[in-house]
Amino acid sequence: MVKLKSFVIASFTFFSLVTPALAHVPGVDPTMEAATKGIVAVAHPLAAEVGKEILANGGNAVDAAAAIQLSLMVVEPMMSGIGGGGFLMVYLKDQNKITIIDSREMAPKDVTPNYFLGEDGKPIPWFERHTSGKAVGVPGTLKGVEVALEKYGTKKLAEVIQPAIEQAEKGITVNWSMAQYIGENADKLKQYGTAAEVFYPGGVAKKEGDFLVQPNLAKTLKLIQEKGTDVFYKGEVGEALVAEVQKRGGTMTIEDLNNYVVKEREPVLGEYRGYQVASMSPPSSGGLTVLQILQLMEGYDVKKMGVNSADYLHRLIESIHLAYADRAAYMADEDFYPVPKKGLIDKTYIDERRQLINPAEANAVVKEGNPWKYEDEDLSALAKVKEKENPTGETTHFSVMDQWGNLVSYTTTIEAVFGSGIMVPGYGFMLNNEMTDFDATPGGVNQVEPGKRPRSSMTPTLVIKDGQPFMAVGSPGGPTIITSVAQTIMNVIDHDLNIQDAILTPRIYSSNYPDVRWESGINQDVILELLGKGHRFDEAPQNIGNVQAVMYDFETGKMYGGADNTREGSVLGVDAVKIVMDKPKAAEPTEKGSFTLKVNGLSYPFTASQLHIQDGTSYVEAGKLLLGLGAEAKNLAVDSIQVNGIEVLPVRAVAEALGYQVSWNKEERAVLLAKEKAQTSTPVQNHYSEDKFKITN
Ligand code: GLU
Repeated sequence: MVKLKSFVIASFTFFSLVTPALAHVPGVDPTMEAATKGIVAVAHPLAAEVGKEILANGGNAVDAAAAIQLSLMVVEPMMSGIGGGGFLMVYLKDQNKITIIDSREMAPKDVTPNYFLGEDGKPIPWFERHTSGKAVGVPGTLKGVEVALEKYGTKKLAEVIQPAIEQAEKGITVNWSMAQYIGENADKLKQYGTAAEVFYPGGVAKKEGDFLVQPNLAKTLKLIQEKGTDVFYKGEVGEALVAEVQKRGGTMTIEDLNNYVVKEREPVLGEYRGYQVASMSPPSSGGLTVLQILQLMEGYDVKKMGVNSADYLHRLIESIHLAYADRAAYMADEDFYPVPKKGLIDKTYIDERRQLINPAEANAVVKEGNPWKYEDEDLSALAKVKEKENPTGETTHFSVMDQWGNLVSYTTTIEAVFGSGIMVPGYGFMLNNEMTDFDATPGGVNQVEPGKRPRSSMTPTLVIKDGQPFMAVGSPGGPTIITSVAQTIMNVIDHDLNIQDAILTPRIYSSNYPDVRWESGINQDVILELLGKGHRFDEAPQNIGNVQAVMYDFETGKMYGGADNTREGSVLGVDAVKIVMDKPKAAEPTEKGSFTLKVNGLSYPFTASQLHIQDGTSYVEAGKLLLGLGAEAKNLAVDSIQVNGIEVLPVRAVAEALGYQVSWNKEERAVLLAKEKAQTSTPVQNHYSEDKFKITN
């Protein structure tokens, strides 16, 4: 458990007295409503209400977190529950320490590294793999909740489970978010029938506004209330669970359930611009990767670049690629393999890695570094390196603060939306498919092994100022979790946004060169400039993550929160503050242009008014075309013309001058540009120093 240094600095007290309008911590401002007696930020208002009530009735943050988790499995059953696992990070004010209750799923005993290989020696196809009984890891959530309550809570499991029982028994109204996920997962839910009885009764999807009663789930929760967690790990619920897993091809036995162990872990700790960041340690890759990204970005004047500018996003994407290369190579369950936790976030190592970022273009070849050089002992021979694909799933994150100053940051999951799609018959809860977070092929630190925890990306995090945690943050979204958390922290610390704006600011995600996922709202010129540097932005935006955070201004005693709008995110304070996110509006259909420009197969995001055809020649607004192709007008001997007062350039002439092959696809009405990427020297050998945003010390 990490003990925090406390700082009492007289000048801070003085400073805040003479400037009362200024918050002592970033991420909060006078426009925000504040609570003083406890606050929760949760992805569903009904679970938020449960947490708030526990706090109002004298429960602490751990009591509230336990009740929220149990309620979420009723009101947001596709994301987490007793069929899954999670990481509950807690700051205990009276002991001034941060600790983590790790209830991550474990592999059953009867598995081998070849577990996911078919008879042909190739990985079993994805749909089969992630909906099979083999995908189900031994669930830890219920034990985790129990251990957290026993060690750090004040209430009994039988008490905090009651609101969930009522919600399952009396029913709840399906919200827009649940309706959307039910609609998107028809195949998975119908595959084994049991889940379809709940979410597709009579073959028809539950939709927004419908009532959802879950009597089997209520029965399970009542059994747990009456008999304790043994009924799950040793008794009738467990028997039914393993029978279903085995029926669906898995190997889990009641002994596996019986042998499940919760682990208490220390967070990984790093510095970012004078703040401390405490985040999730292995078996999650989340904390170390977030710290690497932040520390790589610390070498740049991020504030000056501005939020979501091209300069910022280029360096961010490049930093993410470097960090994800190390993530794939070095991060897994450290109870099985050594993880170079010190080396990975060593300042000299990070400085060395940052030298690989070229301000002018995207690095096409990104490899892991050698953090073992910065460890006291090189244990790399024990840790086998292997490249790995990144599955994405969903999950849920919530944050809680109580009246005594304890904070909880809890990310919890059944891996994919509705997990494996397997519901335990007669008991009404979904089973995870966390085993798919292991590598499907043997040979690396994250291969399947008995009793091991699969590598996670979950990143519950606390940010600390002057020895006092003031921000609890996290997100769902598989590997996108890490980048969502890093961006939210930079939005608060560097870009001076309040936590709500920090969460709603559009995010990007990328793990490998060249593809970038992006949320609607990233400026078109920024995308074009980044395309010009060699990144490939997905053609359409999509939602990334779902961040819920609480903030504490410890000078004033005020508590704040921020919620995300990709679900019905809610911030509820005990004495004040009620924020519930509205259903997002459907995007307006974009007007089709007179043609499309495709560069190496990728459609460029020009709007209709930026495209012109005149006398059979296609033109694009000059500044936009040059940005998108990474070119400068002064280097091109091509004349522009004016159309409706706008300067446009002929596409073919510009592209040919830049060395592209140009063709016209009649059916698609698309101008096609193609060019092999020039082989740049291997980035590993390059040390780029001419970067106007680089902070040199
Ligand atoms: N299985 C994921 C992980 O632990 C979490 C699920 C998700 O959000 O994708 O990293």
